[in-house]
Amino acid sequence: DLLIDNVSHTYGSVEVLRDISLEIPQGQIVCLIGPSGCGKSTLLRFLGGLEVPSRGAVLQVGTPAGDSLNPLTYVFQHFALLPWRTVEGNIRLVLEDHRLGNAEMDQIVTDVLARTRLSDFRTALPKQLSGGMKQRVAIARALAVRPAVMLMDEPLSALDSQTRELLMDDLVSLWTRQPFTAVYVTHNLAEAVRLGHRIVVLSRRPGRIREIVEIDVPLDQRALANPELEARQ
Ligand code: ATP
Ligand code: MG
Repeated sequence: DLLIDNVSHTYGSVEVLRDISLEIPQGQIVCLIGPSGCGKSTLLRFLGGLEVPSRGAVLQVGTPAGDSLNPLTYVFQHFALLPWRTVEGNIRLVLEDHRLGNAEMDQIVTDVLARTRLSDFRTALPKQLSGGMKQRVAIARALAVRPAVMLMDEPLSALDSQTRELLMDDLVSLWTRQPFTAVYVTHNLAEAVRLGHRIVVLSRRPGRIREIVEIDVPLDQRALANPELEARQ
């Protein structure tokens, strides 16, 4: 598990986060939700080790998942795919540093493309893909390194609402078949309620934890529990 231990942060004289303590249990999706500027992305950067908080720390508790190539990976709002590389090339990019044999790399690419329903687009270039597909490539790329924790910063917010629904279904089935650990930042309550085992509500400046809600309903049983979604089907 990852543990955020009493983290506070200021940029210059601006207090951004105050007294954040939070556990990220292995195999769960923790959603961070809160108003713009409350420090969600900042918290993700602390989790990713890209930045160090003014006070407090991020701790790894227990041993991380044994076979991960990269302990942490990011999925961003704007995909961050290299336009001149194919889908496969974009995924191989994150595998190149890991001294894998070509056959093993190939196997990983085949596996993550199948899991994200992209097998037919292995040799496509990003510009040939829709926004939803590009984000599936970004998710495939993140999964390829078998991360202990996926850090997802508003991964669906650049997509139209229909594509967002489809991607939520994809994430649910990915998780159901092979649970992963994620910290998932969103503005969208519907996303948090659909995908989060735990929803952490942050308040506006300084960002503090207002509430933590745990949802016991299994991810794959939630869509139908939502009357609004049910009515639309
Ligand atoms: P959004 O929902 O709009 O993405 P957020 O919750 O992710 O917002 P952050 O990006 O974490 O918010 O920013 C929190 C606050 O810290 C904001 O007021 C922002 O302007 C400020 N901030 C972020 N990064 C820096 C930086 N490198 N230097 C100075 N201030 C910063
Ligand atoms: Mg942000």
